[in-house]
Amino acid sequence: MKVRYSYLPQQFANADDLWAELKAFVPTGDFTLGKPLTEFENRFAKLIGTKHAIGVGSGTDAIKLSLKALGIGHGDEVITAANTFIATVGAINEIGARPVFVDCDDTFCMNVDQVEAAITPKTKAIVPVHFTGYMTDMVKLKPIADKHGLPIVEDACQSILGAQNGRNAGTWGNAGAFSLHPLKNLNVWSDGGVIVTDDDKLDHQLRLLRNHGMRNRDEIEVLGYNSRLDTIQAVVGNWLIPQTESIAAQRIANAAYYDEHLGKIPGIRIPPRRPDMQIVYHLYVIFAEKRDELLRYCVERDIEAKVHYPVPLYQQDGLKFLGYKPGDFPVTDRHTTEIITFPCDQHLGKAEMDWVIQTVTEFYRQG
Ligand SMILES: *Cc1c(COP(=O)(O)O)cnc(C)c1O
Repeated sequence: MKVRYSYLPQQFANADDLWAELKAFVPTGDFTLGKPLTEFENRFAKLIGTKHAIGVGSGTDAIKLSLKALGIGHGDEVITAANTFIATVGAINEIGARPVFVDCDDTFCMNVDQVEAAITPKTKAIVPVHFTGYMTDMVKLKPIADKHGLPIVEDACQSILGAQNGRNAGTWGNAGAFSLHPLKNLNVWSDGGVIVTDDDKLDHQLRLLRNHGMRNRDEIEVLGYNSRLDTIQAVVGNWLIPQTESIAAQRIANAAYYDEHLGKIPGIRIPPRRPDMQIVYHLYVIFAEKRDELLRYCVERDIEAKVHYPVPLYQQDGLKFLGYKPGDFPVTDRHTTEIITFPCDQHLGKAEMDWVIQTVTEFYRQG
């Protein structure tokens, strides 16, 4: 049985109503900052629970523009997680700031206890990453940031509707950044991103920054960027957004099923599932002994398991200039040899999950 990783060919297979909406939209010519975008932003803000949502060109831009709007730039240091996706670091780098890494713990998020040691006089912001759909411990991080007067931009790209104590990812910081990339839990048909905030001034600044800094057609208030969420993608987003809660619920249910069965297998360790956290399983990642062999075994049996990620960012060629050396982030390093990701999405069937469980069981039984 094949257990595919990507569900995109299935996801829009029965979407005649969406095609009808696109067909009605195109002749309006309302392609940039159009009405469906405003509608999508309002619905997104309501979904997350913030006053404002601003559609931008990508999740990377959502982080970049948020930092920019907070006045972060050249020579500043921004603290983030060592084990994130490259986009977090790219966004910090793009505005001329320097990423400073903090190691993670077994929740795959920043170990908040190590943040204070990373703060220097140059530190100007913290970008916690709610990696894999987990939550960074914001209850602990927020007072640290406040004590040092540091704004927070949450990288919530993998954690839409992730929450701690019932409070959603994206609502803890000054701003929250989301991605609508095709592989994310709420997706459109190309790149896209959203910033959420409760701060009216930040909202104003972000709306300028995404649209060349133009106050109107003839007046430039600040120097900005071209980073609007395409209105045609907002039409797609409006079609999918009512499903966001059920997508999260299905992923949570799938993960619980995996946890129950895979957790019984000697050789597998399930990461901590803290009761104060809602984890939305953008990625279902667990720890496995003999990981490389298990991965090969699964792939040979048509299970598209993956590793997120096999080489830590700080050891990548493109980031050598930061001056880190192997061993600087021991938990991140350990994870690269222990973690394995199995498909967990809302389109996955029980038979496919059972095949994963059976295959992993067999692997360790053979010893
Ligand atoms: C996807 C992602 C981003 C960036 O999103 P894009 O929309 O691809 O630019 C940033 N951070 C994390 C952790 C992501 O997974």
